[in-house]
Amino acid sequence: MKAVALLAPETVEVVDDRPEPACGPDEVVVAVHGVGLCGSDLAVVSGHRPVPALPWVLGHEAFGVVVAAGERVADRFPGQRVVVEPNYPCLRCAPCRTGATAGCRNRRAAGISEPGLLAERVAVPARFTWPVPDGWDDTDVVCVEPFTVALNAVRMSGLAPGDRCLVVGAGSQGLLVSVAVTHAGGVPFVVEPHPGRRALARELGAEDASEPPSGTTFPVVIETSGAPEAFERALERTSPGGSLIAVGQGGRPARLSTFTLVQRRLTLRGCLIYDHPADFPRTIATLAEHDLHPGRVLRERFELAEAPAAFARAARIAGKTWISLPRTEENAS
Ligand SMILES: [Zn+2]
Ligand SMILES: [Zn+2]
Repeated sequence: MKAVALLAPETVEVVDDRPEPACGPDEVVVAVHGVGLCGSDLAVVSGHRPVPALPWVLGHEAFGVVVAAGERVADRFPGQRVVVEPNYPCLRCAPCRTGATAGCRNRRAAGISEPGLLAERVAVPARFTWPVPDGWDDTDVVCVEPFTVALNAVRMSGLAPGDRCLVVGAGSQGLLVSVAVTHAGGVPFVVEPHPGRRALARELGAEDASEPPSGTTFPVVIETSGAPEAFERALERTSPGGSLIAVGQGGRPARLSTFTLVQRRLTLRGCLIYDHPADFPRTIATLAEHDLHPGRVLRERFELAEAPAAFARAARIAGKTWISLPRTEENAS
């Protein structure tokens, strides 16, 4: 079976030697139709985010069709179109018992701590697959996972209808956050050094805040880049009494004076992924009710054989990149 694997830092290859996944009693096997690429995949490829072993199967933003269901699975069946929720909390530890599963101490993550989903077929826990309508466009379905992150960040920000919101960074996550801000009734402004990404953000309805009149601040700021310089600028542009939500993650420290924090009465909050089981079905219901089409943030689609080029392009281009796989489930055992 084919999969896309990291062989060494910066070396991505399509391999054809993966064993067929075995379906555990509580699992389903999904024939993967598409996988979106995001910053965390690129951090794995560059070696900044170490993985347990090499070669390592990449990818986590996957959708496809169920081709087999384990003996204890009653509510998923072959033929069902699903997206995968690629973070598997233990559901037993203290954070999990409160419903805050993003804080699970034993959380497993596809493509990071578990083998990734960029393979022809994958076995995943059935309860971490979510049915989506057959009629939805692939481009919207492939964005369900990162759009869940975006909706969650906006919900946690406390944004109220009419609020101006500064989105720092217009990579794929920043673009999806802008779409989520508009959906929540806010007015998104984007700051982003890449001219193409800035143009795409404008196309999606955000205003350009790169050259603001000095002193312009925002009651809600959502930082998606993880770069410390961007975080410092984001802090300066948060209104007194406002909230700065950090979504982007970087290893280098940013400078923050307690004087600024206290004098300006800022709320600073880190926002990590989403919680199980609440958030995926909520995203799917939101997409069913509203014409949001998060797939608008996609710009380039690659075939499986072109996966190395997809990873190389994803780091440079404006808009989100994804890989589509041949639909071979009728041949699968
Ligand atoms: Zn992602
Ligand atoms: Zn847990």
